[in-house]
Parts: sequence; C-alpha cells; structure tokens
Amino acid sequence: MNNKMFYLILLSIVLGIVGGIFLPEQMIAIRWLGTLFINLLKLIALPLIFSALVGAITSIGNTRRLGSIGVYTIFYVMVSVSFAVFIGLLLLNVFKPGAGLPPELILANVSTTHTKTLDFSSFLLTLFPPNIVAAAAKFEIMPIVFFSIVFSIACISVGESAKPVMNLFNGLRDIFVKMIIWLMYLTPIGLFSLLGSAIAEAALQKRLMESVRGMLLFIVVFMLGLLLQCLWQFAIIRYIRRKKASEFVRQASNPMLTAFVTSSSIATLPVALIAAKQLKLTDEVARFVLPFSTTINLAGTAMYEAVSTLFFCQILGMHLSITAQIGIFITSIVAGMGATGIPEGGLVTMIMVLRSANVPTSALVLLLPFDRILDRFRTMVNVWGSLVCTATVDYVSTKKQRAAVLPDYAAEKEDVALA
Ligand code: ASP
Repeated sequence: MNNKMFYLILLSIVLGIVGGIFLPEQMIAIRWLGTLFINLLKLIALPLIFSALVGAITSIGNTRRLGSIGVYTIFYVMVSVSFAVFIGLLLLNVFKPGAGLPPELILANVSTTHTKTLDFSSFLLTLFPPNIVAAAAKFEIMPIVFFSIVFSIACISVGESAKPVMNLFNGLRDIFVKMIIWLMYLTPIGLFSLLGSAIAEAALQKRLMESVRGMLLFIVVFMLGLLLQCLWQFAIIRYIRRKKASEFVRQASNPMLTAFVTSSSIATLPVALIAAKQLKLTDEVARFVLPFSTTINLAGTAMYEAVSTLFFCQILGMHLSITAQIGIFITSIVAGMGATGIPEGGLVTMIMVLRSANVPTSALVLLLPFDRILDRFRTMVNVWGSLVCTATVDYVSTKKQRAAVLPDYAAEKEDVALA
C-alpha cells in the first residue's frame, strides 16, 4: 500500500501540473475537491489535538510514580524540543527560503486573505475566551490547547475517579488516528485538485520553476536542521559513552530504520526497547523513559511545524515580530506533542500553528507532495531523540545513585577503620 501511495502521489503531482497548465478552467472548477480535503483535515485536527494532549499530559502526571526519573525526562524533552524549534527558526531566518516566492501559491485556494497582525496582548486574550465552545466553533485552537492542559491537570489531581475519563480520551485518540490514516488515502485527490488549481492561476505558471527552487531550498534547510538536531544529541552520547559512542549509533540504526519505514515513532517503540536492552541501559529506566519520551519528545515534528509556518509567512510577506515567532515556537512544541506516533500526524496538527500565526490552512498544499517523505526523516529524528533521552536519563540517574551509595560506603569504611 505504501509503495502504491507513493506512485499515486507522484501521479497526482504530474497530473495536477499538466492539468493546471493545459486545462486551467477545469482545474479551477474542481478546486472544491481540494477544499474538501483541507476541511476534512481541519475537522479531525481539533478533536485529535484535544484527546492527544489530554493523553500526553495525563501520562506526564503519572511520572510522579517514578519521581526523579520522570523529572529528568521532562527536563531533557523540554530542552531538546526547544533546541529543535530554535535551530529550525534560526535556519529559516538565515536562509529565508520563502522570500520572493509568489504568495498566490498559498492564496490561490483561499477566498479571504489573513492580514491580522499579531501583538502580544491580543495573543494573550485569545488564549482565554469566555466561551470554549464558541472558540472551538470559530476554530480557535490555542484556547482549546490551554483548556486541555488545565483539564488534564485537573484529571491528574482528581486521581482514581478520573481514570475512566483518561482512558476514554486515550481511546478517542486512537479512533482519530485511524480516521487520519483513512484520510491520508485521499491525499492524491486533494493534492491533484489543490496543486492543479493553484497552477491554473496564470500568473503562477511563469514562476513555477522559481517556486520549485524555493521549495527545494526549504527542504534542504529543514534536513539541515534535522541533522544539526541529531548532531548535538550525538555530542551528548560522545560524552556519556566515550569510545562506545559508535556502538550506540549502530544499535540505534535499527529503530531509526524502522521509524523510516513505518513513519510512526510509536510503532517503532518495540524495536527501540530491544536496542535499549542491547545497549545495556537500565531496564526500569528504559521501560519507563522510552514510551514516555516517545509520547512527548517529538523534536523533529516540532521543528517541522515551526519551519513550515515561518516558511509560509515568508512567502506571504508577513513580517513576524519576535513575539510572533515566540508564539510559533510555543505552538509548535505543543502541536508536535499532538502528533505523537501518527504517520503524517504533524501535517494535521500543524493547522494549529498556522491558525495561531494567521496563515491560511490552504498553505498545506505546498507540503502535500513532500510530506510523506519528510515524515519519515522527522520520525527518525524523533526516535533518535528518545533513545538519546533514555541514555542520558539512565546516565544521570545511575550517577546520582552511585553518589548516594558511595558516601555511605565511605562512612562504613571509616567506622570499620575506627573500630
Ligand atoms: N510520524 C511522526 C511520528 O510518529 C509524527 C509526525 O511528525 O507526523 O513521530
């Protein structure tokens, strides 16, 4: 099925381009098919984000069981995901792959343009609307995110009697994941219609090559970001494992290949657990940290959400202040968490980041031809990050344990000597 899908996507790109150039009127007439596809993505985005966030945050709550190991993991994840988003935003600001690309690439599929500027106070006010249902109806995602965070914290503090609710949300999340997998089968149709109708806009045809160049630069910059993300984490492994660092990479290559093939960090988890065993990481640490980190440590995805949004803003010529970029920074981290383990989940939850930056969701059409392959790479980085996280937490907790045991041992020795 995967191979078939790949060829179907290629075919839809070719047909979309040919149709856009030679049958522009017909392509514009079937633009509604693409709009339908985007609507379906948006339809699932909200409930998915809500249920996935509740699942992820309530699992953080359970870390109290594991005390310091849980705290180390959360700390590592926060640092790692923030670094990823920071690297991505920095690279985009330096290379500016979107600058000079025709905004019609995005605006061809929207009836209204978004010109609202972002300032800090209105951003804060949108986070706390008086009516959450009205906010959901208006597709304001940030209030939903904040609501799910508070809701999850309340679930954790209620404890036992909230368990059925937490289980319900985990079940809901699985159902939405299934729906996304089905929806992704429609990608070729959505892509054909959106790409074809965008190209049908006469002005675009002349600038097509330029756009392709811009897209390729964007992909190269994103890949560079992923590479840098892997490299700074490799430096940690070098420090922890010294000469055995290459063995770590060798063992990690199996789960990373699985991540590439499955496009799902959760599906890769069993293979990652085997690698952790072969790397002789403490069993208790690996069994807790790996699944936990897989749920929330989506550095590659968060980077993707951030760089894509900034890329679109560059195409649209939107001037983003530092505050607005901080907004993208935060929403990308949260949106990454919402995509946990779902093949191409990052594409769906990106809607949240786009909304918060006032970028039309039709911008996703630019990513559709490449998302499948980019997903494989970012999933590899997510899995690599979880393994490094586990090794780091194992190293720190073992060192702490030794430090706690050694003084006793030293004192004992002293007592013996005195006797
Ligand atoms: N497929 C990714 C994962 O499972 C999520 C995404 O970026 O779409 O980690």
